[in-house]
Amino acid sequence: NICADALSGRLVIDLHALAENYRTLAARVRPAEASAVVKADAYGLGVSHVAPALFAAGCRKFFVAHLQEAAKLRPYLSQDASIFILNGVLPGGENFAAAHGFIPVLNSLEQIANWQETVQSLGKSLPAILQFDTGMSRIGLSPQERDVLVQNPALLADLDVHYLMSHLASADESESPQNASQHAVMQDILAQFPGIPLCFGNSGGIFLDTHFHGDLVRPGIALYGGVPSARSGDAIKPVISLSVRVVQTRTVPAGTRIGYGGTYVAARDMRLATIAAGYADGLPRSLSDKGAAYFGNVRLPIVGRVSMDSMTIDISALPEGTLTLGSLVDVIGPHQTLEDVAKAAGTISWEILTSLRHRYHRHYI
Ligand code: PLP
Repeated sequence: NICADALSGRLVIDLHALAENYRTLAARVRPAEASAVVKADAYGLGVSHVAPALFAAGCRKFFVAHLQEAAKLRPYLSQDASIFILNGVLPGGENFAAAHGFIPVLNSLEQIANWQETVQSLGKSLPAILQFDTGMSRIGLSPQERDVLVQNPALLADLDVHYLMSHLASADESESPQNASQHAVMQDILAQFPGIPLCFGNSGGIFLDTHFHGDLVRPGIALYGGVPSARSGDAIKPVISLSVRVVQTRTVPAGTRIGYGGTYVAARDMRLATIAAGYADGLPRSLSDKGAAYFGNVRLPIVGRVSMDSMTIDISALPEGTLTLGSLVDVIGPHQTLEDVAKAAGTISWEILTSLRHRYHRHYI
């Protein structure tokens, strides 16, 4: 075992803040229920820790993207938790899914037919969610497929449809007319399939009006401390902090070119530190010459291009000797949020979180 201090950085994952975020969201949507989206290894934070913490906070419904994620999640949850698969089941996976009690989101007539076949071969009714495309045009039953279903209810015979579902494309923009338009389409669908509960809002949707909640919401990013929209204010607690170790410090004279391509040229004598994280650690190359690390509240700008395993920061603002081999600087923390890093990188917090990977020492508190 390599001692934690010898690893390239420290990713602290606050499971109490995660649980608090779940409770905050659940309270906000009540009487609707809150599930948890734990796909992509719980947005990169580790489903084996995250799922039990959410279960302990009261969550009983979990969404993953793929069948293999459902299989990985199962051992970390007790049997009274349900696991839903957003992409549904690909051909060949139906018997495995049915045997383990996973509940597919059926997104097309083809997926419905395959699940029905499984029902018939097993001779028992199986649960499912039906997802409708209400305007995002990514996944879900098209308007034409919906008409076919309405005209042929036998296509759903023996399926125990737990929810009708749809996904909002613009929930992070509360003013977007796309929200109201998707809601209106969903109302028509609910009228065509009366009596089936609705699974609707993602994190952004939870902070829209209550009619975007439905009976079950599916938050992801807000659980993990991301800010889903301007409307969420400070309701969501940060969950992660990330600090990275210094591997070398140096002083360079004015005119020195720094990093790949020599894109940054020192305008003055500078003190630099190279830190042990790069684009293979979820800190994108687009942070080159843009982002920063912090030591306390002192901003230490990234100079030159971000490399695969390291990047260089300007530490001239710190008293000499403050940072030495093995010192930690903050990349995500009190002075720079996950959102700040995503913005500097020209991306979204979802992408930063799911890219952090496993080279940091992960510390769950
Ligand atoms: N529902 C679906 C279908 C999704 O694809 C996602 C995530 O991309 C979510 C819910 C959770 O969204 P968010 O992380 O914005 O809360």
